[in-house]
Amino acid sequence: MQFIDLKKQYQVLKEQIDDGIAKVLDDGHYIGGGEVKQLAEELAQYCGVKHCLTCANGTDALTIALRCIGVGKGDAVFVPTFTFFASAETVALEGATCIFVDVDSRTFNIDSAKLDKAIAEVIEQGKLTPKCVIAVDLFGQPADFTALRKVTDKYGLPIIEDGAQGFGGSIDGKKACSFGDISTTSFFPAKPLGCYGDGGAIFTDNDEYFALMSSLAVHGKGSYKYDNVRIGYNSRLDTLQAAILLPKFHAFEQYELKDRNVIASKYDELLGKDFVTPYVPQGFESSWAQYTLILDSAEQREKIQTALKDKGIPTMIYYPIPMHKQTAFKGYDFNLDDLQVAEDLCDRVLSIPIHPYLDDETIELISRSLKECK
Ligand SMILES: *Cc1c(COP(=O)(O)O)cnc(C)c1O
Repeated sequence: MQFIDLKKQYQVLKEQIDDGIAKVLDDGHYIGGGEVKQLAEELAQYCGVKHCLTCANGTDALTIALRCIGVGKGDAVFVPTFTFFASAETVALEGATCIFVDVDSRTFNIDSAKLDKAIAEVIEQGKLTPKCVIAVDLFGQPADFTALRKVTDKYGLPIIEDGAQGFGGSIDGKKACSFGDISTTSFFPAKPLGCYGDGGAIFTDNDEYFALMSSLAVHGKGSYKYDNVRIGYNSRLDTLQAAILLPKFHAFEQYELKDRNVIASKYDELLGKDFVTPYVPQGFESSWAQYTLILDSAEQREKIQTALKDKGIPTMIYYPIPMHKQTAFKGYDFNLDDLQVAEDLCDRVLSIPIHPYLDDETIELISRSLKECK
């Protein structure tokens, strides 16, 4: 059994994907081909955002967003401590300081009340300038942007939505990757919408941001390509990846996202009595990058994970270590908040297989096995 069965998806979409790849090879526009433009237009429309800029990966997308906002030394950027490393790494790379914020125990997303407190404390200390907030749509569920905006508006701070796992999720029908002043996503193969290599995208309604980020992604180009007006990056999505993403995106839009939600509901039903299953607030829809249980203890998790492994059922721990405990951030003394919720989650979460091609029999087998080895 695969944790995420990408080969199964390829079997289903093989003809379209192979045709798309063959066309790129025939055309010979390996960088900046028509598929890249088409994909960006379709993604922008799907998310309900004015501009989409594709780029090399989700980490670059964050870096370019941070550069666009002008984040640098002496700035404080507020980041949930329960996330993938790139959400924080990119901040440090720009020379700014991460202020790690605890998450909500049920949604796993940044806690807006604790964010408010953290911003106020940074202002009071007067050492760093609050510059922006990174809100992560963890495991596919959008962060609570209504609550977050109330806080960030109070301080006049922009939000970067790290939608690397969130693409396809929504709040009251409004799609993820539309909630940030700038939003980013990743097409790493295992994400809800993935390519066959690395890829990413950036979304914004802001014309100036879009122009600046388009320049930053291509060596700081000016209006003429060989007049470079700023120091930038080489961050492009290549045409082959765009050609692979187009049919995958259409399948995602037409049925995969629905199927992911059907599978999550089946798990809810089969596991809800025995386990703490994922909490999706009213009006929110997840794209189920992960289906994550909260177990009783680290010991129980270890026991269950081992027993499942013996039955050939793969599980993953996302994430075992919060950002504020990462070795790379050793010596950071700006953990103002109480980060207990995230620390507790790191000890107790367990993600089980979820992907749109998981059949009923396998869902039942996984659920039954989980209950048996509890
Ligand atoms: C995967 C991921 C990223 C980075 O995306 P890459 O395409 O792998 O660079 C950033 N943030 C989060 C939350 C992620 O899950």
